[in-house]
Amino acid sequence: MANVLYDALFAPMEGSDRRLLVLPDGREISAGAFSAMVARFSHALVAAGVAPGDRVAVQVAKSPEALAVYAATVAAGGIFLPLNTAYTAEEVSYFLGNATPKLFLCDGAKEAALAPVAKSAGAGLQVLSADGSGSFPEGAAGFSDHFEPVARSGDDLAAFLYTSGTTGRSKGAMLTHSNLLSNAEVLAQEWRFTDADVLLHALPIFHTHGLFVACNVVCLTGGAMIFLPGFDRDEVIRLLPQATSMMGVPTFYTRLLDDPRFDRQLVEHMRLFTSGSAPLLAETHVEFEGRTGHRILERYGMTETNMNTSNPYEGERRAGTVGFPLPGVELKIVDPSTGETLPRGEAGMIEVRGPNVFKGYWQMPEKTREELREDGFFITGDIGVIDAEGYVSIVGRAKDLIITGGYNVYPKEIELILDEQEGVLESAVIGVPHPDFGEAVFGVLVARAGETPDPQAIMAGLAGRLAKFKQPKGLAVVAELPRNTMGKVQKNLLRDQFKGRFAK
Ligand code: AMP
Repeated sequence: MANVLYDALFAPMEGSDRRLLVLPDGREISAGAFSAMVARFSHALVAAGVAPGDRVAVQVAKSPEALAVYAATVAAGGIFLPLNTAYTAEEVSYFLGNATPKLFLCDGAKEAALAPVAKSAGAGLQVLSADGSGSFPEGAAGFSDHFEPVARSGDDLAAFLYTSGTTGRSKGAMLTHSNLLSNAEVLAQEWRFTDADVLLHALPIFHTHGLFVACNVVCLTGGAMIFLPGFDRDEVIRLLPQATSMMGVPTFYTRLLDDPRFDRQLVEHMRLFTSGSAPLLAETHVEFEGRTGHRILERYGMTETNMNTSNPYEGERRAGTVGFPLPGVELKIVDPSTGETLPRGEAGMIEVRGPNVFKGYWQMPEKTREELREDGFFITGDIGVIDAEGYVSIVGRAKDLIITGGYNVYPKEIELILDEQEGVLESAVIGVPHPDFGEAVFGVLVARAGETPDPQAIMAGLAGRLAKFKQPKGLAVVAELPRNTMGKVQKNLLRDQFKGRFAK
């Protein structure tokens, strides 16, 4: 019987001796060996009581076994729920309470702290540690290497991913078999993935980028992955010669560019570098091309929608843009207050519709109604603009929009100019409370190594370029911008840090 996602991604691996995972120590795991592990894990899930539609939550380190739990959950008809390994027991308690999984897998080192959390959520607890050991894999060892996947249609749920939730509580985005498969198919096609590809995989697998964009595309197309536990610059530089392609967040690329060993010769053989999850500075794009001869292919997506847009594989990959809507994805820019489509070239709310768009937030019908329109368009919360040739650019998050003295200010416009100033490596522009203006524009700068930006000179430099209301009312220099694991600047933390700047 059919299991839509399993049949496309994992069923073809059965009995195959092609390599699927290459580990940093040189060990290789064939597709067939992986498939046998998935079968044993699927039996173990069923033995743990996981029935179709049940959630399987995991907070485990990235490993071949962790990836196999994802595949096994899909095979058993369950819903896979990976959690960021950085979450504390208190945070995990919220997720388990909200998702009420049948089974929760955690690292052995955290078992004692998480046992009461699992218990109060009514979840069974088993261990899967970073080295692949623990009660779950050990219990699975005796099961058969073959498992008949549970029937699942395209509309059935395959995964919940909780939104990163930089504001408010995280929401569980419900993703169906069809959401995930349709996006993997489109990306594989658009980015020309084949069974000859070896993807250097240094992303976490608790997030849409590393789990779905990377793993689903490679599993679908029959290639291999060099599976690193995380991003380690030395390891990436050592292993790049064995890869054909790499997917990264912008910080991967800035860190690589900081290393003289990362040069044209090292990556001459590479086919593709992609970037997403956070904005790639146009400057990084240009520097990358100058150094390596490759143009990074930037794309745009989110937990709730998978990928929405991509720069072209063939054709111009334009710095500072996220390219065109993917085939099958409708994208429009609307006035956030009326929902009316805006004329091309005007900035507004990005809304998307397509087979990639999720089913709603788990047990949050009101939040779902607020963000997912009845006609199927999802209100992304991102402000964007489409240029004359159809390239989409992200201007910022709607919640980061600054309203100062009644005027709307998009931080990106100011950040781009601040980034050009002498001594400035990068910047983040935020709104902070101000007694007269409601909010004031405030710029947070990071200095280039060995340089000291001069705030007064920078303010003078902005005067001729930006309308008065857009000019920062203050600037501060910090050692680095706070970023989450996916490289996104956490503006909420900066707003908190500088909220008293203009207090009376
Ligand atoms: P997440 O749900 O954690 O994947 O975060 C999704 C958000 O990341 C989007 O709504 C955007 O705000 C941001 N994002 C993703 N890709 C890009 C990109 N290429 N450029 C700018 N922002 C991006």
